[in-house]
Amino acid sequence: MTDKKYDVIVIGAGPGGMTAALYLSRSNLSVLMLDRGVYGGQMNNTAEIENYPGFESVMGPDLSEKMYKSATQFGAEYAFGTVEKIEDHGQEKTVITDMGSYVTNSVVIATGSQYKKLGVQGEETYGGRGVSYCAVCDGAFFRNKHVVVVGGGDSAVEEGMYLAGLADKVTVLHRRDQLKAQQILQQRAFANPKMEFKWFTEVQEILGDDKKVSGVKVINNQTNESSIIDAQGVFVYVGINPITEPFSNLAITNAGGWIITDNNMATTVPGIFAIGDVRQKELRQVTTAVGDGAIAGQSVYQYLQKLA
Ligand code: FAD
Repeated sequence: MTDKKYDVIVIGAGPGGMTAALYLSRSNLSVLMLDRGVYGGQMNNTAEIENYPGFESVMGPDLSEKMYKSATQFGAEYAFGTVEKIEDHGQEKTVITDMGSYVTNSVVIATGSQYKKLGVQGEETYGGRGVSYCAVCDGAFFRNKHVVVVGGGDSAVEEGMYLAGLADKVTVLHRRDQLKAQQILQQRAFANPKMEFKWFTEVQEILGDDKKVSGVKVINNQTNESSIIDAQGVFVYVGINPITEPFSNLAITNAGGWIITDNNMATTVPGIFAIGDVRQKELRQVTTAVGDGAIAGQSVYQYLQKLA
């Protein structure tokens, strides 16, 4: 915590927040980035990124490191803290964290999203003991083992392929009969001899021996037949929820909890902007978060010029 008043506080140091910090500090504004964890956001949970221009392929944590260096090169500061609330006092805002409060003239919310859980029995019990939401973080524990991946979107398929590089076998469980993932990912996954797909399949329960996962009980949603699949790991990729609970007092979200902005990333509260995955939008990717961050950099600058 500090007595210093910032021009801008950026909440969240994922690709969106780091890009906003880069643009804003390069415009000579005083910028503080706050994050409850290590900078990089979801990129830290991503094995390989192949669709960020300029890199044919880059590991998520490596891209995080490069973006952090860019973001801080013009003086943007970085501090730990979980943001609990923003108080809007008109021209001045107070950002309240578990480590203290900060005063600023504007705020960029870049808190992203978090994994949806399956909500089945055994998921909490075996969290960190076979149940995971991050292949990059936990994949190495499953070398030469059998893991199941739950989901059918880009994340499920991409991370399933990453796991296939470590595990003996990867079984993808999907509740429909076709994947939602991009075609190029589907083609690669279907061609991977270590990957198997079970369609119309939903997890009913995660099973274990009290210490670690031993398998999953699944049901075929067409035939209603239940069966058990033996597996040592369960990786869950069934969607995401926005992280907007700390901002509920501002009434800037839609019914789903996503923040609504205009094309300039401005919310309905003057001086409060939102970017990246936390926003209501169609495509949630590193490139789109970065694009939002650049636009917010410009919009916040113009907002502050009018205040001066
Ligand atoms: P995030 O990256 O989610 O960053 C948000 C940050 O806010 C986090 O660091 C978090 O700690 C912080 N935060 C949250 N709440 C608080 C709080 N209350 N106080 C303080 N800090 C807070 N995209 C691609 O382009 N290509 C890919 O190949 C790709 N693969 C992916 C694979 C997986 C498994 C996943 C999960 C995502 C993948 N994505 C990929 C999507 C991409 O990672 C996201 O779209 C992108 O990271 C969103 O950036 P963001 O800055 O909006 O949010």
